[in-house]
Amino acid sequence: MTLCFGSHVSIAGGVCNAIEHAERIGCDSFQIFVKPNRQWKLPNITDDDADFFYKKASGFSIYPVAHSSYLLNLASSNEATLCKSVDTLVAELEACDSLRIKNLVLHPGSHGGDGEDVGLQRIVDSLAVVFNRFSGKCNVCLELTAGTGFNLGYKFEHISWILKNGPAENLSVCLDTAHVFGAGYDISNEERYKEIESSFEDLIGWDNLKCLHLNDSKCKLGSRKDRHEHIGKGLIGLSGFENILSTCKNFKIPAIIETPKGKSDDSDKLNLKILREISCKV
Ligand SMILES: [Zn+2]
Ligand SMILES: [Zn+2]
Repeated sequence: MTLCFGSHVSIAGGVCNAIEHAERIGCDSFQIFVKPNRQWKLPNITDDDADFFYKKASGFSIYPVAHSSYLLNLASSNEATLCKSVDTLVAELEACDSLRIKNLVLHPGSHGGDGEDVGLQRIVDSLAVVFNRFSGKCNVCLELTAGTGFNLGYKFEHISWILKNGPAENLSVCLDTAHVFGAGYDISNEERYKEIESSFEDLIGWDNLKCLHLNDSKCKLGSRKDRHEHIGKGLIGLSGFENILSTCKNFKIPAIIETPKGKSDDSDKLNLKILREISCKV
């Protein structure tokens, strides 16, 4: 059992193109958007596409994950945005089901200034509506965020509260190293990391972790900002990845890089090589 390293790959030209790209980079797993991430409308996935995707994706060490659209906001105070977000999330979960993807990564949502408690309650209520309408197999995988603006999910306590009060059987968790660092968790310091590791276990539980996003950060610890950097080139540094991989190296889950893309695949290949080396070492 080992982490399945991979990259976020584009679905330009159809979901099946993503597979070829992931193979070219040498991924053990990968992540896709099920639709262009800044549009509400979902592309039509034909049965043939879905069958082809399933056959090819089954050849990876672990089946891929999907990431939901950045437009969704399950904590919105605007009725129209909230309805559209719920409708789109249901449609994305259905698309994941047709591709047999088990985890759809989602940023929990932004309360828009109405307060964290109000926002968290809206997220839980929205998830209840979503899973009333969607009875398939795909789970919503709540991603920890950097907490930019009014975004929730930047504290382990937020995710813990959603798991306790929401449809827990349909939920899982995604940890993004750049996000938690931006949120103020100093994963690069070994001593601080030990506390963070046990706090994650107490509040969320490592068993609930179904996806890892491995990104270095251009932004300072606690800046509440989120700009990704190549592995080892940012403010988290290699020591941070040594810490997190010492906990997770034997988890059989997708460990996805969302680092800046160059013109070629070289930077993705190098980032994955560095992470695999760290994982063998720790
Ligand atoms: Zn994300
Ligand atoms: Zn991420």
